[in-house]
Amino acid sequence: MARTRRREIKRVPRTDAALPEYDRGALPEGLLTRRQLRAQGLSPGGHDPVGILRCKACAYRPQWSCIHPTRAWLYSVHRARLKRTPTLAQERALDQAMAARQTCPRCRRRYYFCLPLRTLGCCLECHDGTPADPTSYVAPPGHALAA
Ligand SMILES: [Zn+2]
Ligand SMILES: [Zn+2]
Repeated sequence: MARTRRREIKRVPRTDAALPEYDRGALPEGLLTRRQLRAQGLSPGGHDPVGILRCKACAYRPQWSCIHPTRAWLYSVHRARLKRTPTLAQERALDQAMAARQTCPRCRRRYYFCLPLRTLGCCLECHDGTPADPTSYVAPPGHALAA
């Protein structure tokens, strides 16, 4: 097999480029790369890039459009959306907050609903002996051993 022919890179004058191109350090406000969006907890939300962040090498060829792999797509922060899916850490924090409101400090059962901890300070069964529905809670770990 002959050596791979050097691919001719199609250069376009910057004025003919499909998307406006911007140099690093001269970005208009509100345009961010995908990575910068992610750092703010945002995602493009399905909108197409609105510009191109030119690579460093192209700073020396301002009249040509950048077709290099190190260029980056730019998205409008005004059309970006908040990422819906919470991170694992956020989910864990949420679960810990819920666990605190659903666990009885006396019997250590974790109920599937929030307990009146502010008024009673414990579950109903611990408060006045009203038996709790066994399907409404998870027994604390080690409960069988302690019994
Ligand atoms: Zn370039
Ligand atoms: Zn209890």
